[in-house]
Amino acid sequence: MPDKTFEFVSLTSLKGVGPSLERKFSQLGIHNLQDLLFHLPFRYEDRTKLSPINSVKLGDRVQISGEIISNNILFGRRRSLQCMLRDTTGFIYLRFFQFSSAQRDSLAPGKFLCCYGEIRRGSKGFEIYHPEYREIDNSDNVSSESKLTPIYPTTDGIQQKRLRGFIQQGLEILGQSNGLVDFLPPQILSNYDLCGLTDAIKMLHNPPACLDLDKLNNSLSPFQKRLAFEELLAHRLCMRKFRQNPDQKCAPSFKVNKELGEKFLRQLPFELTIGQKSASRDIAQDLTKITPMLRLLQGDVGSGKTVVAALSSLQAIGSGFQVALMAPTEILAEQHFHNFRQWYRRLGIKVGWLSGKVKGSTRAKTLRELESGSCQILIGTHALFQRGVIYKKLGLIIIDEQHRFGVHQRLSLRNKANSSEIQPHQLVMTATPIPRTLAMSVYADLDSTVIRELPPGRVPVNTAVISSERRDKIVERIKAACVNGSQVYWVCTLIEESETLECEAAEATAQNLVKLLDNINIGLIHGRMKSEEKNKIMSDFKKGEVQLLVATTVIEVGVDVPNASLMIIENAERLGLAQLHQLRGRVGRGSGQSHCILLYQSPISPDSKLRLKVLRDSCDGFHIAEKDLELRGPGQVLGTNQAGLVSFKIANLQRDAFLLEDVKTSSEILMKNHQGLVDSLIRRWLSDKEEYVNV
Ligand code: ADP
Ligand code: MG
Repeated sequence: MPDKTFEFVSLTSLKGVGPSLERKFSQLGIHNLQDLLFHLPFRYEDRTKLSPINSVKLGDRVQISGEIISNNILFGRRRSLQCMLRDTTGFIYLRFFQFSSAQRDSLAPGKFLCCYGEIRRGSKGFEIYHPEYREIDNSDNVSSESKLTPIYPTTDGIQQKRLRGFIQQGLEILGQSNGLVDFLPPQILSNYDLCGLTDAIKMLHNPPACLDLDKLNNSLSPFQKRLAFEELLAHRLCMRKFRQNPDQKCAPSFKVNKELGEKFLRQLPFELTIGQKSASRDIAQDLTKITPMLRLLQGDVGSGKTVVAALSSLQAIGSGFQVALMAPTEILAEQHFHNFRQWYRRLGIKVGWLSGKVKGSTRAKTLRELESGSCQILIGTHALFQRGVIYKKLGLIIIDEQHRFGVHQRLSLRNKANSSEIQPHQLVMTATPIPRTLAMSVYADLDSTVIRELPPGRVPVNTAVISSERRDKIVERIKAACVNGSQVYWVCTLIEESETLECEAAEATAQNLVKLLDNINIGLIHGRMKSEEKNKIMSDFKKGEVQLLVATTVIEVGVDVPNASLMIIENAERLGLAQLHQLRGRVGRGSGQSHCILLYQSPISPDSKLRLKVLRDSCDGFHIAEKDLELRGPGQVLGTNQAGLVSFKIANLQRDAFLLEDVKTSSEILMKNHQGLVDSLIRRWLSDKEEYVNV
């Protein structure tokens, strides 16, 4: 029976699976026999041997057997049942916090048990909480498992034991067939020393006792490596394929407009850095081609990406096309709008503004100008790509801080682009540096340019990590900064994911600071304020009239006030490193020394402290991003919205980073010599996600 059939064998063909269980399986993403075979254990236990009780150590997961000596109910903070179990070497306690009276009666002194569980420290010696156990005849007669025991991810209504049984049934069917079709060509298997697919699947469900338990539990066995390799390969192929899609429309080719570009550069108060120049050159090159550009422009906070975007836009505008520039927050979008309007004023270019809050006749006018083509560049939030927004000739899309956009938004954006006759070029800018390992897999379809340096004269921000118990000291720092004519941010961070609470906290903090700092002008800005209010505060802050700005994380991205030189971030331990780095990037934009104080709530966990230290010791966004990835994992680093993009069944980008180079080479071999296998691989690993990976 060839592999294709497994994909079409319904689960109900297994003994004991009916429609209701089939529904439960679908919650685990298991829809057919192939899915079931690829549903792999996340952990293994060694129940092949019995440990003498006196040999167990704290934290071990062990199998033991012995005789029940006592059986008591304890009335502590929580009522519990405690049984003492003894073998010939010692004794240990079993503890149950939930138990029925029948269970209590069955655990009677004199009975023999075989148990499995984790060793904890109890008040009278070692204990196991809620061990898995079964009654045995006597301790000399224990028949142990002959293989390592797989533990599967499961869901309500399918118990571990039952799931194991179904998988064994699946394996029997597999055993009677010719096995799964191996889509990896022999050349790749032998080049990278990979085992066969069917072997890997069989081994991972039924690992013999001689396999290395630690390796298995850390997914480092050759069988797991083989599958991770194939999965990473499938992901990469999927993205490569999208880039090569022959149905893809052509993009308009824009000539470099020297005159317009030079006019723009001449009026800037600074010269572009080497990094900015070279990024601009890369983009200019791309825009002359009819292959749609898909370029990621990475550059640390403050490296000056906006001006590069403005320069690149001129190439499209100069050729009679429109540009759309989308930013994730209204504040940032507005700031871009003001910058562009100022930069383009003397060039006679019409800049439009659109956000969800632009309504009525203003909105109608903007849309008319866009459709007629008189608006040459439209700047705003994701409102730029909603229904009813029609571009006359969209040639270039620029997305700022793309990590803040979810997969769905990017999808709708692409669809919008596809609805026109041509495919616009895309430039994606981010200050959250994508660590190399992620860039290679998730962004395989993007070309990438990095601006490595900051504009000259910047002094690295001095960062301190301080317990919030010492906040009175900070009030003095604020006074001193303001007396010196400099400005201050006070950032209140997200409380329990609730924007309302976050805003309330900011309000309370502002009121509190007003009391402590009587001669200082304090402003407040948060996400629930009307946009006119926000604009007013931001412009007062820019003008220096507001000296201390109390803000929520709405100011995280992009906001640019060079005179601000002190930032206090409250509850810094709640934020990710990349986000903190972004926030900190609001200061250190002028030429003087800036300071950032990370306040944390005591007690703080050692892990959190370690993370804050990374920030204290480095101002290099790339280094911080790598550390963040190491400490938190890719899903977190990219934000939950994008976690879908990197949710692998088996592979793990950190652990398997060493495979990526080989995966890359293999993907080229497959694209070149085994086109027929590409779709099969993508289908096997990404059938439900293809659409997402393509964005
Ligand atoms: P980011 O890359 O974080 O988006 P911005 O584009 O907001 O950075 O630029 C940060 C600040 O640096 C802005 O005030 C901008 O005007 C200024 N800037 C940009 N390029 C240069 C340069 N080459 N020399 C001096 N200042 C620059
Ligand atoms: Mg920016």
